[in-house]
Amino acid sequence: MIKELYEKNSIKDKRLKDLLSLIYEFGPISKNDLIAKTKLTTTTCTRLLDDLLMEGVITESGFGESSGGRKPFLYEINADYYFLIGIDISRSYTKVLLMDLKLNVKSEARLKMDKSSTPHATIKFIEQTIIRMLVESKLNKDKILGIGIGSIGPLDSKRGIILNPYQFPSDGWRDIPIKDILEEKLDIEVTIDYGVNTALLAEYNNHYKDIYSNVVYMLKGVGSRTGMIIDGQLKPGTDKLGIHGQGHMIVDIHGRKCYCGSYGCVQAYSSMRAITNDVINALKQGKESILTESVTDIESISFDDICKAVNNNDPVSSDIVKNAAYYTGIGISNLINVLHPDLIIVNGATYNMKIFYDTVVKIATERSNIIFPDHVLSFSRGQLGENATAIGAGRLLVTKYLSSL
Ligand SMILES: [Zn+2]
Repeated sequence: MIKELYEKNSIKDKRLKDLLSLIYEFGPISKNDLIAKTKLTTTTCTRLLDDLLMEGVITESGFGESSGGRKPFLYEINADYYFLIGIDISRSYTKVLLMDLKLNVKSEARLKMDKSSTPHATIKFIEQTIIRMLVESKLNKDKILGIGIGSIGPLDSKRGIILNPYQFPSDGWRDIPIKDILEEKLDIEVTIDYGVNTALLAEYNNHYKDIYSNVVYMLKGVGSRTGMIIDGQLKPGTDKLGIHGQGHMIVDIHGRKCYCGSYGCVQAYSSMRAITNDVINALKQGKESILTESVTDIESISFDDICKAVNNNDPVSSDIVKNAAYYTGIGISNLINVLHPDLIIVNGATYNMKIFYDTVVKIATERSNIIFPDHVLSFSRGQLGENATAIGAGRLLVTKYLSSL
């Protein structure tokens, strides 16, 4: 029934979508609470709920608290009514999740992105993974609500095209009509949006929406991407933040040259490439490190090697990572002084190092407290980890089908 309601806007269709949205967001929920939120009459609400129950898209799930009389029935979405495919395409990996309607992950697959991850190879991985997941789960295509993609940008979201992401690990990523290609190969509808936005929506709706109204989400890996929720709503028009985040915010006007051409950007000190280069240069100058014992060629040291060294308390790597975190924290404090968020969620490979996260939180908090000492700000590394973007891409599909125009 959810697919059939898409872009239908008769009074009854809109009411059904409103009820489904509320049951999706707040279920298990009682009829009285639904009536209070929709302002429907009891008769109309009962009739529509009966339609939804008959269709099987919602189920009765036990009883709520009684306010005197009989305990009320509670209603919730039938998680198995449809399944969702959520995909995360980033510079580090491509991830494919099969989820039920309640975003429980049923199956997952990951492709590490490297020089061989051309558009052709990546799309082939996605296609074969989805076909395998459907076979293994004994699901027909008509049980899939759609494919949601959270991708690096820039994007033409409407037409489903990945335009020309910078610093991608393989060649060929220019004007890739991924929506059309996957729809033709799989005959399943595809929706695409900026990955940082889908990750933010997933984290916000899962854990934080009842506590915080203004949230900034920062993904920091090869690149830097930022999404914002202001007054409980995803901030529209943040496409450019979804591409570069605040990575090119200048934190030292006389600082080092950034790959963008400017000087003193956050990325010039704290991108994965910048940290890796700093460690390699320090070792070339003869600094002692556990890394020199574990690799034969200093030039071949990877960001993963550095993460391991930091976690083993290697002093040289730890000092460089702390320095990168210092500049990142300064950049974030500038952002705080403009937006005054209640919560900052950070994610991505760089933040997997505790010392980086702790230093960023300390510097950003200290710096922003100078101006507004009473402002209450929380930091989090999120709850969904690496799956956040793909889970949010699945959620995007539900929102798309249940929204009234
Ligand atoms: Zn820059």
